[in-house]
Amino acid sequence: IVTATLASVFAEAYRRFADLPAVVEGPGAVCTYAELGSRARRLAGGLAALGVRPGDRAVVLTKNRPESFVIDHALAAGGFVRVALSYRLHPREVAQIARDCGPAVAFVDGEREREVAAALAEAGLDVAVVALDEPQGPVAARYAELLAHPELASPRVDPEDLAWLPYTSGTTGEPKGVMLSHRSLLACARNLMVELPAIETDDVVLHVAPLTHLSGYLGITYAMRGAAQVSLPEFDPERTLQAIGDHGATVLPMVPTMLNMMLPALESGRWRTDTLHTVLYGGSAIAPDRLTRLVACLGEVFVQAYGLTEIPFPLASLSKQAHRFDPGQPPPARLASAGRVNPFVQVRLRTPAGADAAEGEEGEIQARGDTTMLGYWNRPEATREVLLEDGWAATGDVGRLQDGYLHIVDRKKDMIVSGGFNIFPGEIENAISALPGVSEVAVIGVPDPRWGESVKAVVAVLDGHQVSEADIEQVCRDRIAGYKRPRSVDFVPALPKTGSGKIQRHELRKRYWSDQDRRVGG
Ligand code: ATP
Repeated sequence: IVTATLASVFAEAYRRFADLPAVVEGPGAVCTYAELGSRARRLAGGLAALGVRPGDRAVVLTKNRPESFVIDHALAAGGFVRVALSYRLHPREVAQIARDCGPAVAFVDGEREREVAAALAEAGLDVAVVALDEPQGPVAARYAELLAHPELASPRVDPEDLAWLPYTSGTTGEPKGVMLSHRSLLACARNLMVELPAIETDDVVLHVAPLTHLSGYLGITYAMRGAAQVSLPEFDPERTLQAIGDHGATVLPMVPTMLNMMLPALESGRWRTDTLHTVLYGGSAIAPDRLTRLVACLGEVFVQAYGLTEIPFPLASLSKQAHRFDPGQPPPARLASAGRVNPFVQVRLRTPAGADAAEGEEGEIQARGDTTMLGYWNRPEATREVLLEDGWAATGDVGRLQDGYLHIVDRKKDMIVSGGFNIFPGEIENAISALPGVSEVAVIGVPDPRWGESVKAVVAVLDGHQVSEADIEQVCRDRIAGYKRPRSVDFVPALPKTGSGKIQRHELRKRYWSDQDRRVGG
């Protein structure tokens, strides 16, 4: 791992698995590992001809598509820095990030190409836009033209060089570029391999979660193991279930919101999912009530990963075996946890007083390992807040260790302070999401003249179901302490989410807090 780079591990995969399918492009159409390597190096040659140099940033703003894998491998082959962005970003947000990191090139999908190119030009940025589909406006090149170039000879790349620059998707505020080296990404792949059930060359990985997020990290691991990868451009519960059957998918990376949305279709029992042996989820927790229902539908296939853009997955993970439970009994406590700490990572929990938390006591999760980011792009101050002494890094998450399992209590910034009590939204959300009919819930603190903040639940209800404020009050009364129970409930059609499907509590909070209100705790 000391001398390897993304390009070197991918080159090994092109040799080892040459004739095996790397990417399933459509019915009966596959791109082998040898072909993936050749396309990647030709695309890298095309980018070099456009003037893109090693270390230059390359924005990737596309839905999942077969070309996504070729682009990722080309960026690795050329030593270019991958800035994969959420497809849903507003053109102005794309321009804001581009102003921050100064990319040389941007790959953009058909529908978005014209508006994104216009926003980049309006911001006065000289970015060569590459159209993946028929160009809608003036572009520097088409993807297919770039593939016609001769293969690029591998440039010298050091394992410590910058490989990826993901932007945190912003559940807590303005996006920041996270500098990840080749070493960090390969350490992440190694750590995943410790936690994932063995991947073989006959595995078929279905990517419906965005490759620009967690799935992208998994893409490195699966390529190193010679699996075939197939992607869907957009998430839709029934189309995903159909695709599992069509492709005989064995591995399905998911974000919890997607699993949530699939639950009614899964419970209908109409779909064939028996080829699946691993459903990996992460990014946020799943309430134990939901998780037990999912396990009842799909069996013992779930693996959970916990991590951050700054300290990539998996810092901890909950194995398939740990998801086992007796249906006649209440769910075991470990189901509410993020699992055991990865053997290559050290974790410590720090109380507000700076002491080590005792067993079961809450504290900020701090981690040390070789996946940790180099720092934030151009933000030394923000970097200092995260990268601490001796290689430790602060996650901003509050957690506790119990019986060897790491429980993520919540984000420090999402803590609600009401009447002097610290309240974490997660456990209240878990209680409310146990109500049948609740599709999404977020709990936030809203201004309260007496208590500073009071607890509010914002709830979205599934079509055809009815959930009342009294139902919510009752389920909370049954499960959680009085001072934590919501004092008010708002019903909304849907909650604001990031591109990776996470609920943006800070966006919700904005709706209730005016500038004059002083927010305790951030
Ligand atoms: P920002 O960092 O700006 O808030 P973000 O939410 O997109 O944006 P990520 O790095 O994608 O940032 O998310 C990391 C956070 O997600 C963790 O700090 C933790 O709060 C939460 N998280 C990730 N995995 C899990 C998990 N398995 N269980 C509970 N929470 C998780």
